[in-house]
Amino acid sequence: MFPAVSAGSATIEVIEPATERVLEQLPELGAEDVDAAVAKAKAAFPAWRAVAPAERAALLHRLADAVAERNGELATLEARNAGKPIGNARGEIGMVAECFRYYAGGVERLTGKTIPVAGGVDMTFREPMGVIGMITPWNFPLVIAAWKLAPALAAANTVVLKPAMLTPLTAIEFEKLALEAGLPEGVLNVVPGSGSVCGQRLVEHPDVAKIAFTGSTEVGRGIAEAAAATIKRVTLELGGKSANVVFADADVEKAARAAPYAVFDNSGQDCCARSRIMVEKPAVDEFLAALRDEVEGMKVGDPLDESTVMGPLISAGHREEVASFVPDDAPVAIRGSAPEGPGFWFPPTVLSPVSNDDRAAREEIFGPVAAVIPFEGEAEAVALANDTIYGLSGSVWTRDGAKALRMARAIDTGVLSINSNSSVRVSTPFGGFKQSGIGRELGPDAMEHYTEVKNVYYATEE
Ligand code: NAP
Ligand code: MG
Repeated sequence: MFPAVSAGSATIEVIEPATERVLEQLPELGAEDVDAAVAKAKAAFPAWRAVAPAERAALLHRLADAVAERNGELATLEARNAGKPIGNARGEIGMVAECFRYYAGGVERLTGKTIPVAGGVDMTFREPMGVIGMITPWNFPLVIAAWKLAPALAAANTVVLKPAMLTPLTAIEFEKLALEAGLPEGVLNVVPGSGSVCGQRLVEHPDVAKIAFTGSTEVGRGIAEAAAATIKRVTLELGGKSANVVFADADVEKAARAAPYAVFDNSGQDCCARSRIMVEKPAVDEFLAALRDEVEGMKVGDPLDESTVMGPLISAGHREEVASFVPDDAPVAIRGSAPEGPGFWFPPTVLSPVSNDDRAAREEIFGPVAAVIPFEGEAEAVALANDTIYGLSGSVWTRDGAKALRMARAIDTGVLSINSNSSVRVSTPFGGFKQSGIGRELGPDAMEHYTEVKNVYYATEE
């Protein structure tokens, strides 16, 4: 099913986190494989940009249909490789198809402007950039790739995608599906290789016009530095440490019952995780009681079991990192269940009370560990919510609409929900303030991030 491993060549083992078994062996790729993929993408670009817009849109719709038809198969592969509950995986693959449909609809709506000037006509064109390099993380493997692929291809670019080597399998399948759906050879090239070799080469390659990256702030910083050498465009979707602010005048029970899913979804391996649960002091006891009931009832286990709500962590190494946030003297207030091994299990854990200065409140844990931080009043809520290097998502829970909007305006974050934990929709912009990133994905403007503006002046005077 996957690229053949030739005898004697080095291999990479892809592990199933729920069982610790080897799911697939892949050949280890090198910088020369990236160079070959970039050359293919570069060669395919002139013909792809010449495809009539309606035809390009039709191809992307066909690809969306193919993904939708294969949802069950792709979701099972994603669930096994990333260790995520099968229901969530189906939702993610559903969003992949939805994303391609949305940007297929944008192909014929990507327009320039005409601008009044003296002596002629001035017009702008949105030109494709050429070859786009994409580097994606392991937590939402195919769907995060789709957020980049769909607008980039819709805007007539060609692509080299380097998925995370912990979870490359759905991207490899997707490349085949795209060819079957009729995408011309070379338009989409998947290079399942390591970040330090293949990712690095993609960022340095002189024929790559832009890097669209999702991953950690640390690696993102390195990518921005390396991209500077060739003045590459970059968009970066990075880490987060988002606040879930619950006022005492909210429906506290509802907020508490929703809170676990805002941080323990995907085993907490979610850039949008609202891992700082800030609760107004008079509501803390009521909140913790409902939170305990909800967390202790969470079913943690086999990702392929339909009733599972939380699977394992991605790797043994990552579990060790997560565990370092729960030392023996940590204020563990709530601990859910987790199966015995094999599998990289970690129970959903709530620390309370936590100060915003504690390590568990400052660093992205990227695991099922939440910190409850008590606060007093609106001003302190804003100060604490903004006291972080990140600014990706967040929620505010209150029945006071004006207060909700004051908070929404005051919190430095790219995405905020009121009385909800919703973060991501195909049709609305997503991305971060501060060290959570540069640029926005999804929504009506994402295609523009995969274009250059060209200004043309046509003199009309005799
Ligand atoms: P990561 O360690 O930064 O890796 C992300 C990608 O970068 C992987 O494909 C990785 O390759 C590659 N990479 C590593 N070193 C590289 C280098 N020197 N040059 C080029 N590429 C390199 O992130 P992760 O551990 O996969 O994912 C977790 C992080 O992603 C978290 O911080 C999370 O917040 C963030 N995230 C952000 C968003 C968002 O939209 N804002 C969404 C999801 C996740 P290999 O791993 O294959 O070696
Ligand atoms: Mg990492």
